[in-house]
Order: sequence, then structure tokens, then C-alpha cells
Amino acid sequence: MAIYDQTQQNIARKINENSKISNWKDWHWQLRHSVESIDTFENLLDIQFPAEERRELEETLSKFPLSVTPYYMSLIDAEDYQNCPVFKQAFPSPAELDIGGCDMADPLAEDTDSPAPGITHRYPDRVLFHISNVCSMYCRHCTRKRKVGDQDSIPGREELQQGLDYIRNHPEVRDVLLSGGDPLMLNDDYLDWILTEVRKIEHVQIIRIGSRMPVVLPYRITDELVEMLKKHQPLWLNTHFNHPREITTSSKQAIRKLADAGIPLGNQTVLLAGVNDCPRVIKALVHKLVHNRVRPYYLYQCDLSEGLTHFRTPVGKGIEIMESLIGHTSGFAVPTYVIDAPGGGGKIPLSPNYLISLSTNKVVLRNYEGVITTYQEPDSYEATFCDRECDDCRLHLKLDDAEEYRATGIEMLLSDHDETISLTPENNARIDRRNHE
Ligand code: SF4
Repeated sequence: MAIYDQTQQNIARKINENSKISNWKDWHWQLRHSVESIDTFENLLDIQFPAEERRELEETLSKFPLSVTPYYMSLIDAEDYQNCPVFKQAFPSPAELDIGGCDMADPLAEDTDSPAPGITHRYPDRVLFHISNVCSMYCRHCTRKRKVGDQDSIPGREELQQGLDYIRNHPEVRDVLLSGGDPLMLNDDYLDWILTEVRKIEHVQIIRIGSRMPVVLPYRITDELVEMLKKHQPLWLNTHFNHPREITTSSKQAIRKLADAGIPLGNQTVLLAGVNDCPRVIKALVHKLVHNRVRPYYLYQCDLSEGLTHFRTPVGKGIEIMESLIGHTSGFAVPTYVIDAPGGGGKIPLSPNYLISLSTNKVVLRNYEGVITTYQEPDSYEATFCDRECDDCRLHLKLDDAEEYRATGIEMLLSDHDETISLTPENNARIDRRNHE
């Protein structure tokens, strides 16, 4: 850590001759001095980019702006910045301008699945509520590159009211994820108001916040913020560490404050070429996370967003990483590897295959060591027939609040209460012929 402390002092001194390192932990000071130009970047880290590279970098910034907190900058290894995982997440690359044929501005169709301002309603029982479009840093790999930095679209109270009305009018929404941008860019009072309004809605059971502040600006996690958040339990917070080097003394302190306040913490990592596409790096990351009471939640395959082509790895790399985690370390240290389906299909989990074969009474499996084993199926199992009126539900479990909903997808094919026997894509030529004969 000592090296970071020295770097921090140098950066603080250069930002302002009169600025003392004592300002360093003031999150407002950090935001006021966010680095937004290549000149400043070069000056603060004593780096000089070649002229041709500079021209390309300026061109990149005109499409995807730059913004990095001095704190996050201080984690960059200036001696070897080309290979530094922090630098790669913070600083533009001319490769961002290589927009491939399959790249999209909004690959997850968040805008299309938006029935009200600020709301993305994709899954049956939960919504994403975009309450801020700004971030303390513009991560180069951000899937919402199209939105970050768009100051004009920071939602005001009136707009947020429309999102709140949508949640109020949809009793099926039991989980609200506050997202952005970064929700913790809002001041405590405004955030308190939003949380209070969401908490007033009776059918909302849990609120989640997605924030990268513990990683890029840990000083935002102030005692005052934590006291305010505590009032709105049950509240979960998911953050976004991508590399073990991001887990510093300051970020540990931020995490500790949240965990001590009883706020469950999860982490979403994006698999990024040249940053963390290595089983050893990810294993070190998940171990550090659980050591600091953060549960690895998702490992994301990089989305098909414009400007991210150079960060994308083959899916095989993710499977290789999962192979190195499952069984090799504690189950709660293993995230779920997912592809967020292009077009808005939601998260699809991927895993190495452990099921080798099966018959009516035996399942053949392999474990993480390569041991092949059998699991004997029960002979005496009596299948239950569930028409949603069965005695198991009514008498045994006493699930008065069991949900009534229409099963979809494969769940529907497996259910007893729905007679659908197949799912057929639209415009199926065979079915069309039937209908016209
Ligand atoms: S903090 Fe999150 S939303 Fe903001 S730029 Fe980074 S990844 Fe994107």
C-alpha cells in the first residue's frame, strides 16, 4: 500500500499546489478533480503518449468521454501502464472506435423494454430503476456507454415519479434494483427520498443498489450515507470489482462499513480481455472478495456494446475459469457465469458440464477432479401431480402466499397444470404449411 500512498500524495500535489493530502478522502474533492483530459492524465502520471497515439486517443474521446477519479488513477502502475488492469479499465483505447457488425448501442434492449421513464421491466417480478445517468468514473467496458456522461438526461423528481408510479401500479414487482449510471452519485437527501418512496410501496420486498463506488471512489461510503441506507432495510448492494488489485485499504474500509451496517454485499465482475481473463486472477479476486464479506455474484461475459470488441473473450475462456473455480474453492466464492442475452432475453447461466449420462435409475456424473461417479435414483419416489391445488401446497406447506403466475418457457413444458407440449418459434415454415393446407 505504501506505493499507493506515495502516488496519492504526488497526484494530490500536482492537482493543486495548495491541495493537501487531507482532501484526498473527501469524495466531493475527488469528483471536482476527476481527470477528463489526456493532458491531465499525462501530467499526473508522468506518462507521455506518442503523437500519433494521442491523435487517435483524442478521436476516441470525442465519441466516448474520459473521466477517472484521482483515487482510481492512483492505483495505476505508471511504470508498466500498458499492462496495468486498472489503466485498461480507466483509459481509452483507439480500439473502442472499431465497431463490429454485431455491436449495438443498446445490446440488452434496455430502452426497448422500458414501459415508463427510467424503468426496465424484463423479468417477471423485478425492475431496474435508472435513477442516475452519471458515474464517478466512465469505465471503458461499460455496457451503458451510450448513456454515461449524458448530463442532460439526469432524471428529475417528476421523471422519477413516473417510474415510482409504474412500480406502485405493478404488484408483481417485489424487487427493485436502483441503477444508473451510479445511484450513489446522488446526494444523500435525494437518495433518501427515492428509497423512502420505494419503501412505501407495500409489495416491494427488497431494494438493491448497483454501485461501483466502493471500487472507484470508496470515500463516497461515508458514515452519514451508511446511516441513511440502514433505514431502508432490507437493502442489498452489488458492486463491481474486476481485479484483485482494486481491493485496497480504502475499498476494504468502504466495504466494512456497509457490511457492519447489515447490508448484504454482492459483486459483479465482467470478464475482460487483458484485465482478468485468467483463472488465477479471478480466483485471487473471489478469495479477496469473500475475505472481505462480499459474495461473488455474477461473472459476466462482455456484452455486444459498441466500443467493447477489444475487451471480449471467447465464451470458452469463461468456462475455463469456472472449471478452475467449481469444486476447487468454496461454493459461496463461485459466481454464476452468465451471458446477458442480446436483444433483452435476460441472463443465461453457463457452466462446464458435469452430467455425463443417465438412465431411468442412474445418473453418471464427473466431479472437478475428473472422478466419474454414479448417483442412484430412488426406486420408491412417487411423482406428485401439481395442478396448483394439490394437498402438498394446501395442507403440508401451508403456502397461503404461494404465487399464482403463468409458467413460461421450459418451466411451462415441465408443469402439470399447463397442457402445452412444445414451444415453436414464430414463422415456422412447417407450421405455416399446415395452416395453409
Ligand atoms: S460505474 Fe457502472 S454504469 Fe458507470 S461507467 Fe462504470 S460500469 Fe458503467
